[in-house]
Amino acid sequence: MVAKTGTVRNPFSGRSVPWALAKCLQREAEIAESIGLIVYSIGNPDHLDNRPAGGHTPWRDGSPVGVVWAIDIMVDAKGKDYLREFEQFAIRYCKSDADTTAIRFFNVNGSQYKFNGIRKWDSGDHHFHLEIENGKQNANLGLMAAWKEYKNPTTPEEFNRLGFIDDARLKQQTGKPEVWLTGRGKKTHVPNPTRLKVIQAFMKARGIPSNVEQSSAPIPGTVI
Ligand SMILES: [Zn+2]
Repeated sequence: MVAKTGTVRNPFSGRSVPWALAKCLQREAEIAESIGLIVYSIGNPDHLDNRPAGGHTPWRDGSPVGVVWAIDIMVDAKGKDYLREFEQFAIRYCKSDADTTAIRFFNVNGSQYKFNGIRKWDSGDHHFHLEIENGKQNANLGLMAAWKEYKNPTTPEEFNRLGFIDDARLKQQTGKPEVWLTGRGKKTHVPNPTRLKVIQAFMKARGIPSNVEQSSAPIPGTVI
């Protein structure tokens, strides 16, 4: 488990400094660990001796003392494909309408990126180094939760109602408002556009056709 609080000796002043990992990073770390990723927070002696002091110390340059501002999530330990997929996901997430302004920068797969997913320059880090801005300790990033959901999506209840997934298709009779999730002689009503989006995202992630097929005839099947 990642260290969330502790005391560390400042090699410059010789003082013992109590520290706590920024709250928003505690949340990100917990979710990362729940999917089997290793996470680090406070730095090793190399980090602690560094000047200017970085995010893995509780005395980062220009920041209040006592907060650790960065975590390392070892996504690279899962192999090259996982690492690349994570990098692309993190970029997409930062370019989406999710609020990522709490991110000072992140490093992954040999590159450094800004909070908005724009690449800055090369980085020596291949793991995911996530570093937070001053004053943003309590932000809710939601990044690792979104990654967890992306890798292992929750099955929408409509599929549970039908009792199967891969044979299900979305259909609509042209000119009618109702969209149906249908297959094997059954159909269940998709109640609104929000549910439709959730269902389509799930189908896409599984490689099932997710378009709404138009039909001139009424959609057959027993309503479930
Ligand atoms: Zn780091």
